[in-house]
Amino acid sequence: MTAPTTTRADCLALDALDPLAALRTRFDLPEGVIYLDGNSLGARPSAALVRAQDVVAREWGSDLIKSWNTAGWFDMPKRLGDRLAPLVGAGPGEVAVTDTTSLNLFKALAAALRLQSEGASASRRVIVTERSNFPTDIYMAEGLSRWLERGYRVRLVDSVDEIPAALDADCAVLMLTHVNYRTGYQHDMAALTRLAHEAGALAVWDLAHSAGAVPVDLQAADADFAVGCTYKYLNGGPGAPAFIWVPQKHQARFDHPLSGWWGHASPFAMAPAFAPVAGIGRALCGTQPIVSLALVECGLEIFEATDMTAVRAKSLALTDLFIDLVERRCASHPLGLVTPREHARRGSQVSFTHPHGYAVMTALIARGVIGDYREPEIMRFGFTPLYTSFADVWDAVEILKDILDRNDYDVSAARGLVT
Ligand SMILES: *Cc1c(COP(=O)(O)O)cnc(C)c1O
Repeated sequence: MTAPTTTRADCLALDALDPLAALRTRFDLPEGVIYLDGNSLGARPSAALVRAQDVVAREWGSDLIKSWNTAGWFDMPKRLGDRLAPLVGAGPGEVAVTDTTSLNLFKALAAALRLQSEGASASRRVIVTERSNFPTDIYMAEGLSRWLERGYRVRLVDSVDEIPAALDADCAVLMLTHVNYRTGYQHDMAALTRLAHEAGALAVWDLAHSAGAVPVDLQAADADFAVGCTYKYLNGGPGAPAFIWVPQKHQARFDHPLSGWWGHASPFAMAPAFAPVAGIGRALCGTQPIVSLALVECGLEIFEATDMTAVRAKSLALTDLFIDLVERRCASHPLGLVTPREHARRGSQVSFTHPHGYAVMTALIARGVIGDYREPEIMRFGFTPLYTSFADVWDAVEILKDILDRNDYDVSAARGLVT
């Protein structure tokens, strides 16, 4: 930003020039809410309500089982995968929308270890990841290693600087989350993938906080496998199916243990022997959650009205503005910026620590500013350029300032199950 933005009117002026401003009308957000938690559960596209009504009333209610063919239900994981692909630099036929991120990671890791179990890399037994990774990623890697036995194990590193040394002769797979869920730190995907390859390892990426949030180019990075969420920045709805990317280069040898009938070459032949279908379809396992899948499409459609370059430009402008305003307007309070200032290393969220982070976040939510809280002491604010305005940023910071100036938060506030 050139001159500091010092008034609400400055923010309104930025909104007036914002090429994405009109996309906000494609979401239903409640009055009086500034929603800064699209990194955890994206807002509802207006079209989702109409689509839900149609899929439940007409496709299921009236057309019943015919809809597997007539409504395209059976092909939906691949059709949605093709619509999602451009957002992550994937090619057609390389992405399937299916299962959960955890399950897709299990499949991708298993397939990567299988690829590595032959030839010169057959003795490699280690999955390297970060201790700060989202826990389910570590849990799934450990669960798979435990199940495979034969010395497979997970090695946790404590910083990105430790990664080169961890890519030793035992390392089979480098498994990283591109943008950290807690800090908003963004890895250099291309550089780390290159490093992994030079060391003889494969690179598996989790894009949960990247897809729809930052530009991603899996093909240019020459990554090996990737997974990600659709219910965060892609606005697919609560518990919406996740996605998995299997590039052309690995599809023929993509082999995972969840070999259910939806990954079969001809599922309705009902053959007793498993034969994987060619292409991305072999990443599927069983019958898909059609109602949830249908809603994912409503989120993806909105991205087709823009591109990730425009989304990224606004995301950086919003996060720059938020950091700047918090640091200037709340300077007397013990807030610590956790998210990198450097653009290349920043995702689409801003995290600040505060000794009473949970209580402050609870007070913010009570005043209509919805972010969330992650241990330890971290208040997370997600910025979703499709529906967040510059005036929202201004208003959110003013409410934060008011809460902090007046000590208007309850440090004994009880915690909900989901923070
Ligand atoms: C949100 C998130 C998940 C969620 O996994 P699910 O299996 O879909 O619940 C996984 N990994 C990362 C890095 C995440 O941010």
